[in-house]
Amino acid sequence: MDADQARAWVERIAAAVRERADELTRLDAAIGDGDHGVNLRRGFDAVTEALAGAELPTAGDVLVKTGTTLVSKVGGASGPLYGQAFRAMGKALQQDATLAEALRAALEAVQKLGKAVPGDKTLVDVLVPAVEAFEATGDVAAAARAADDGLRSTVPLQARKGRASYLGERSIGHQDPGATSMSMVFAALAAATAPDPGR
Ligand code: ADP
Ligand code: MG
Repeated sequence: MDADQARAWVERIAAAVRERADELTRLDAAIGDGDHGVNLRRGFDAVTEALAGAELPTAGDVLVKTGTTLVSKVGGASGPLYGQAFRAMGKALQQDATLAEALRAALEAVQKLGKAVPGDKTLVDVLVPAVEAFEATGDVAAAARAADDGLRSTVPLQARKGRASYLGERSIGHQDPGATSMSMVFAALAAATAPDPGR
């Protein structure tokens, strides 16, 4: 991944978050406190602004800046989780990691901070299968498909982490908001890094 692809990825995430902020907030209103769309929109608006003026020669630099901005601008559970994920990924790329290794570093950062495992009904239910699919295939489209399957898998689960866990069994039957935004991250990755047939 080069710096232009990293910028394209982050800009696609920002665009998707703006477009679907109401949906994310609605999902969070059902099993949380209804701020997920607002949180992420505020964060990615700040990221767009931070990246615009910055000279960032490598993908790693772009992603570290993205993560640092999210950590500083977004409250709630998702700000630190997304922020540390992008920072870890960027730091790995700065040290010449492959994209697969960098995605694994992001997953490890999220789990170190949030302690969620698959089945807890969080964004980890998307991140784990997506990273594993990318490691197995090297294909961003396969990762995005695995992310979508992971997203759907959150519906019947009972939440064991985050605010939704306070609802107990009443969290069952709802799609997790953070898993929804994480699936958007992988859709954006596939769109931003897919081979360009025109080249
Ligand atoms: P808050 O819950 O503080 O209001 P958000 O609404 O922005 O924060 O984000 C909620 C999402 O964060 C959840 O849908 C879930 O996917 C994710 N989440 C919450 N706690 C954790 C955790 N410990 N590990 C991973 N993801 C988590
Ligand atoms: Mg919330």
